[in-house]
Amino acid sequence: MATQIIWFRNDLRLADHAAVAAAAAAGPVVAVYVLDDDTPGEWRIGAAQRWWLHYSLAALAADLEAMGGGLVLRRGRPATALADVAAATHAEAIHTLHHYEPWTKAQEAAVGETLDLRCHDGAYLAPPGSVTTGSGGSYRIFTPFWVALSARMPPAKPVPAPMIRFAAPPPGDDLDDWQLLPTKPDWAGGFDVWTPGEVGAHAALEVFAAHVGRYDTGRNLPSEGLTSRLSPHLHHGEISPAQVWHALAKAKGADSYLREIGWRDFAITTVDRVPELGDDAGRPAFKRFPFRDAPADLEAWQRGRTGYPIVDAGMRQLWRMGWMHNRVRMIVASFLTKHLLIDWRVGERWFWDCLVDADYGNNSLNWQWVMGSGTDSSPFNRIFAPVGQSEKFAAAGYIREWVPELTKLPDAAIHAPWQADAGVLATAGVDLGTTYPMPIVDHAAARTRALAAYATIKDTTTP
Ligand SMILES: Cc1cc2nc3c(=O)[nH]c(=O)nc-3n(C[C@H](O)[C@H](O)[C@H](O)COP(=O)(O)OP(=O)(O)OC[C@H]3O[C@@H](n4cnc5c(N)ncnc54)[C@H](O)[C@@H]3O)c2cc1C
Repeated sequence: MATQIIWFRNDLRLADHAAVAAAAAAGPVVAVYVLDDDTPGEWRIGAAQRWWLHYSLAALAADLEAMGGGLVLRRGRPATALADVAAATHAEAIHTLHHYEPWTKAQEAAVGETLDLRCHDGAYLAPPGSVTTGSGGSYRIFTPFWVALSARMPPAKPVPAPMIRFAAPPPGDDLDDWQLLPTKPDWAGGFDVWTPGEVGAHAALEVFAAHVGRYDTGRNLPSEGLTSRLSPHLHHGEISPAQVWHALAKAKGADSYLREIGWRDFAITTVDRVPELGDDAGRPAFKRFPFRDAPADLEAWQRGRTGYPIVDAGMRQLWRMGWMHNRVRMIVASFLTKHLLIDWRVGERWFWDCLVDADYGNNSLNWQWVMGSGTDSSPFNRIFAPVGQSEKFAAAGYIREWVPELTKLPDAAIHAPWQADAGVLATAGVDLGTTYPMPIVDHAAARTRALAAYATIKDTTTP
C-alpha cells in the first residue's frame, strides 16, 4: 500500500478526523504540519495563537509518538513543503480537512495543482454552502440559517482515532526553532490556565458538561465563568463540533449552547461567500463612516486604561489570558467603535493578535455585527452604556479580578468610580487620575457624537 500524507492544519486532533481516518485506511502514514506565514499575508497567525499552536503541536506530536510515529514540521508554502515530503516518501495522496478562509482555500488550490489532494469535511457542523434557502440561495441572517442547520442535525456520530501504521518520515524542523512562544515580558502571564491539545480540549468539555444546565441563564455574567471556554480548542480543531454536539445534545439546557456553536458555522459560511469579510464592511455606506484617528484613545483601550472598569477589565483579561468573555467582547468592541469612533478593523486586528481563539470568521463577523456594518448586525443606534452593562450583568467580581486597583471598592461604586463619594474612594485607596484613570470620554457626549457620525452615512440598505 502506498504512503499517505496527513496534512494537519487547524484540525490538530486524531479522533473524529476524516482525513486521518482516510489516510490510515489507505496505507502507511506521514503526518505533516506546515507553518505558512506567506500565503495569509497580514492574516498570518497572531502572537497569542502562536503560543497556543506551539503547545498544541507538541501535544499532537506526543500523541503520534505514543502510537509509534511522529509529526513532521515544515515551514513555507504548503505546495512546496508538501511536494518535497511527497517526493521524499513516494506518497500517493495528501489528506486534509477542508478549510474556508481565503488563504486556506488558496493553499488548497496550490497544493492540488501538482499533488493528489483529497479534502474531507469535518471542521464544521455542515460544510459551508451546504445549508441553503428553499431556492438554493445562501442565508445572510443567522436565525433562519440556524433553523435550517438544526433541521439537519445531529451531525454524524464521531469516530475514535484509528489505528495508524507509519511510514518512515523525512526530516523536519525542531518546534523550538520556530520561536512561537512570546518574548514580551509582561504578556501571556496568565496563559497557563489553558491546556492546548486534544486531551485538554476533552477535559474542558467535561468540565463544561457538568454545568451546561446553567449556561442559558449564566452565559452573560462575566463574574460567573459559566461559558465553555472551548473556543481556542474549537478554533485549532482539537475537538470537532460533532464531538461537542454529541457530548451535550441530550443535556438539560444544551439548546442555547448548541445555537452558539451554530454561530461558528454561520461565520464561516459568511466567509466562504464573502472572503474579504475581515477588511470590507458588508454595508457599502460604511466605507464613508467618519472614523477618528485617535492614537492616545486607542492605546488607553488596548492597555485597559479607559477609566471604564468593565472595559478595562475585559482588555486586561485579553492581555493576560488571551481570551475575553463574550459579553465583555461586545462591550469593549462597542466602546472602541462607538464611544471612541475608532475603525472596527483596528480593534479586529488587535483581537487577532491577542486572542488565543482568534478566528477570521468569528472575529470579523462579530466586529461587523457590533459596528452595525455587517449583513446581520446589531442596530447602529444600539450603543452599549458601559456602566449600565456592567451593573446589569453583575460584573463586580470580574472587575475585581482584572482591575486590582479597584478591588476594595464596594459593588455600588465599582462600576463607575468617578461617581463615588470621595470618602468611599479614599477608604478603598482609589485616587482617580493617579491610581486609576478618570473616564477618557463622557458617556452621554460620546453617545451623541456616535449617533451624529452614524447619521452622516444614513445607511438603511441591506446588501
Ligand atoms: C468583537 C468580538 C470578537 C470575537 N472574536 C472571536 C474570535 O476571534 N474567535 C472566536 O472563536 N469567537 C469570537 N467571538 C465570539 C465569542 O465571543 C467567543 O466565541 C466566546 O466568547 C468564546 O468563549 P466560549 O468558548 O466560552 O464560548 P461559549 O459561550 O461557551 O460558546 C461555545 C462556542 O460557540 C462559538 N461561539 C460562541 N459565540 C459565538 C459568536 N458570537 N460568534 C461565533 N462563534 C461563537 C465558539 O466557538 C464558542 O467556543 C467574538 C465576539 C465578539 C463580540
